[in-house]
Amino acid sequence: MTRTYDIVVLGGGPGGYAAAIRAAELGKSVAIVEKAGLGGTCLHKGCIPSKALLRSAEVYQTVKRGEEFGIVAGGGAEPFIDFARVQARKAAVVEELHRGLQLLMKKHKIDVYYGKGRLMGASIFSPQTGTIAVETADGEPETLVNERLIIATGSRPRVIPGLEPDGRFVLTSDEALELPALPQSIAIVGGGVIGVEWASMMIDFGVDVTLLEAADRLLPTEEEDVSREMAAALTKRGVRIVTGAKVLPETLRKREAGERTEVRIEAERGGERIAVEAETLLVAVGRAPNIEGIGLENADVALERGAIRVNGWMQTSEKHIYAIGDVVGGLQMAHAATRQGVVAAEHICGAAQRPYDAAAVPRAVFSHPEVASIGLTEAQAKEAGRDVAAAKLPLRAAGKSVVYGEPGGFVKIVADRTTNDVLGVHMIGAKVTELIGEASLAQLVEATPGELGQAIRPHPTLSEAVMEAAQAVDGRIAGR
Ligand code: NAD
Repeated sequence: MTRTYDIVVLGGGPGGYAAAIRAAELGKSVAIVEKAGLGGTCLHKGCIPSKALLRSAEVYQTVKRGEEFGIVAGGGAEPFIDFARVQARKAAVVEELHRGLQLLMKKHKIDVYYGKGRLMGASIFSPQTGTIAVETADGEPETLVNERLIIATGSRPRVIPGLEPDGRFVLTSDEALELPALPQSIAIVGGGVIGVEWASMMIDFGVDVTLLEAADRLLPTEEEDVSREMAAALTKRGVRIVTGAKVLPETLRKREAGERTEVRIEAERGGERIAVEAETLLVAVGRAPNIEGIGLENADVALERGAIRVNGWMQTSEKHIYAIGDVVGGLQMAHAATRQGVVAAEHICGAAQRPYDAAAVPRAVFSHPEVASIGLTEAQAKEAGRDVAAAKLPLRAAGKSVVYGEPGGFVKIVADRTTNDVLGVHMIGAKVTELIGEASLAQLVEATPGELGQAIRPHPTLSEAVMEAAQAVDGRIAGR
């Protein structure tokens, strides 16, 4: 069947559905084409299921620490992990949010086509490129003619040749999320966001963890102090961290060991070889944009470093075709995709307010401790020639962190002494991902460190640490 819409969105993840909703609110007829589940990687294979597992790991640790808070389990029974129930809860969380999303599409009268969509070139259906041919799940082909197309096809785990996932010995985060049982030990390749979140989760679940990172520190794009504090926190809980480790895929050995599996791999570090053995290997070395198999060759959409090239309004080199989310590379995070989706939809509708600004995107790692940041690190600000003033406040200074029983970590603010701008905010500690929105807002309204420090926070809350760090950096600027 051939149908015509103002806008067709290829891919129903947080970028795609946010774009569709915004366009529908602005009066456009909109369709989404989705080959798997509405909600995309974030809802089904990323943010949400991983956070549900992390929450179970956190609860397990909290229960184990109960006596510290004066809570003693009856009968001296030790808490244990029923992993089938952990997975069932995760599935229930995903399902609840999935149902909500489906209702949201109905509410906004957005048609959802389930199937694989491909771009067509100019044809009898439309003189412009970007009509979408859908191979639907029920075998009924659909042709979706549109004025504007938004490509939001996301990304998939990057595979290292020789370390292809097989679902048992070698996993990516896709397979790891579906583990039916906890392994006794895991080796993780990649100490970025996914590697750190999984190392933290697994050690909290009582699994033996080795983390191999090629760079000289974990979370290499974050503030150096943050990497150091994270490494210390994970090491203290028993994670073996090997930085500067070049994994050698050709050394991978897999062995069945009864019900269990065994993997052995070597890595090179400073001219020496080290061997790592574990029940399973998780590879978390980035994500590759999904640009293949979607008919891009039928349009004149330019690529850049394996991703779709876009301008600040998310237009590709074909101005009626937009692209958003992980498929455009850069910061591959759900909230970046959502913002890009809204920018694209508003631009199409002539309602755009400001272009997408990657510098305004906060970053968050949901490990224990959490990491949250926005803007430049102190080193980046110095490299950029800024007149840097920085202040670092231990979270312990906020009474709430002591009450909560998680007093480690800090808030660091990097500012420009000359322009009085906040350049970056970096935090590590319990629940800091809930605090970084303050810095996003401060950046949006161009608040000075002094203003960020003047806003009154309730006591006792962790947000007082942001206030005090801002006051400290303001004091340094004032004292110049
Ligand atoms: P990443 O880019 O964050 O980290 C990959 C890490 O692997 C880097 O530190 C890199 O130095 C290291 N590495 C690369 N090749 C290696 C090798 N051969 N041996 C050892 N280490 C190697 O990527 P990721 O952690 O896989 O995450 C993928 C994407 O998903 C990222 O863009 C991330 O932002 C996003 N994501 C975000 C969140 C979140 O916002 N909380 C959570 C999960 C994933």
